Amino acid sequence: MLSSPSCSRCILGLGAFKLLGGRFWGIAPSSYAGPGSYARNPIPATEKYIQGQRKVELGNIYKRYGCHVCGSKVGNPVGDHNPPVSIGKLMSNPTYAFYPHCGSCSNHQGGIMGSASNEIMELQLPNWKKIRLLRAAGGGTNAYNHGFQPRIYHLTGSICTILLGNPNDSLPGKIIDSCSITLQDFKKRFQSTLRRK
Ligand SMILES: [Zn+2]
Repeated sequence: MLSSPSCSRCILGLGAFKLLGGRFWGIAPSSYAGPGSYARNPIPATEKYIQGQRKVELGNIYKRYGCHVCGSKVGNPVGDHNPPVSIGKLMSNPTYAFYPHCGSCSNHQGGIMGSASNEIMELQLPNWKKIRLLRAAGGGTNAYNHGFQPRIYHLTGSICTILLGNPNDSLPGKIIDSCSITLQDFKKRFQSTLRRK
């Protein structure tokens, strides 16, 4: 059983994480075959390219949340189909949505999914297996790892430490301690990114 201070820390941590925009599945690396860590507000789509009002909407979502895979807000967004069209074509009745992609992620995804699709479509397999293989091709070692990239909800630990830290500590001490915890977290993520490369 969790002690009362542990419960408070846990509840406060979850609340702060959500209030700062954190999402539990958003901690994982972003797959190029599905919605990424920054995916918000899906725009209904068809197999065609994005046009008209939906393109304007996509631009607004991009300005606010950035590329759904890497969070970049550089340049103009590309409407990324989810599921990717290569997967949707294997489904009987796919429901597509657009998410904004930056130019870099769009190109990268095109390369990964294009070459995977060329190989997988040659195989004599049922569609559900091809779908599974294509989804796997966009994730795993090909996924976008956020590594050292700071996000606002990484401050969750800092807030908990400041609010619930040792009552004998001074506030500046708590802040310094919490920053040190956050930096240690970034360092671990950075090292994990380097190991993956
Ligand atoms: Zn991107």
